[in-house]
Amino acid sequence: MDTIIMKFGGSSVADNEKLRLVADKIINMYNKNNNIIVILSAQGKTTDKLIQEAQELSKNTKDREMDMLLSCGEQISIAKLSILLNEMGYKSISLTGWQAGIMTNNTNQNAIIKNIDTTRILKELEERKIVIIAGFQGINENLDITTLGRGGSDTSAVAIASALKAKECYIFSDVDGVYTADPNKIKNAKKLTALSYNEMMEISSEGAKVLHNRCAEIGDKFKIPIITKSTFNNKAGTIITDIIEENTIKSVVKKDVSRISIIGNGIIRNIDFIKKIINIIEENKLEMLEFNVSESKISIILKSVINDEILDIIHKNIN
Ligand code: ADP
Ligand code: ASP
Ligand code: MG
Repeated sequence: MDTIIMKFGGSSVADNEKLRLVADKIINMYNKNNNIIVILSAQGKTTDKLIQEAQELSKNTKDREMDMLLSCGEQISIAKLSILLNEMGYKSISLTGWQAGIMTNNTNQNAIIKNIDTTRILKELEERKIVIIAGFQGINENLDITTLGRGGSDTSAVAIASALKAKECYIFSDVDGVYTADPNKIKNAKKLTALSYNEMMEISSEGAKVLHNRCAEIGDKFKIPIITKSTFNNKAGTIITDIIEENTIKSVVKKDVSRISIIGNGIIRNIDFIKKIINIIEENKLEMLEFNVSESKISIILKSVINDEILDIIHKNIN
């Protein structure tokens, strides 16, 4: 029996109707005789709303108390999904981060997972239950709740996949894969079939929201294939593994207002492409403050704010 991790983001669990879609996807995978662990985010914009409400109470919120508050969002979604799956006739159990054995360091609001005691998860799986775990949260040595930083449920999913030596880790969201640029900003962005862990790490650390930044690093360390797919269609997604393709440009990412990065393994040896990018910048009379090339990334900081038009021009040249 294979162990499969299925993570669903906030937009995928936003209401009861979407929870039903998610439940169907889980049941389908469970019925193929797999052990299923589900990791959920908070519903819709719950986390944003909780942050805003806390800030209305105090301009000086304590990180520990914020973690206590924000971790509630994920607990609502896991409980609802478990209620639904049990109602549909499938044995399931929801677990908070600490119940699932997720131990972190003491950095509230940006904690790092130290280790996962899988005893409880394994016990529930042995009883053929679908195990639903709250993403984004863990517990520190003082038994205080911690959270992993915004978007951290992706990291929870890959960390649990690593601890259980899972066959694969699916990340379901509102996009059906990793694209050559944010598909909500650049309409000609293309879906990538595959990416290396290293390229995904670069894309995430440059700020593309699609995967949390520590997630690909853990996947790489424990060699867990990460597959990003849409909750809302059955199209093939993007697989992130250690297969390295040289000389293909993978993605353009805008970080902050004036930093743009182009990612692809071996980009440093693609002299023609580097020259082409410099030409584009000159033709558009953009003033550069920094131009940096490393093994798999070109990073440019401009004096001006980078608008979507510039992003689009650079993107057109990567294919
Ligand atoms: P979830 O709530 O499921 O965790 P996120 O909102 O965190 O989903 O991540 C998905 C979003 O990431 C997409 O809606 C998309 O706008 C954004 N995104 C940014 N860059 C990319 C990219 N290169 N490929 C795909 N999506 C991207
Ligand atoms: N709910 C958290 C957030 O909105 C974690 C996550 O969605 O991954 O940042
Ligand atoms: Mg996310």
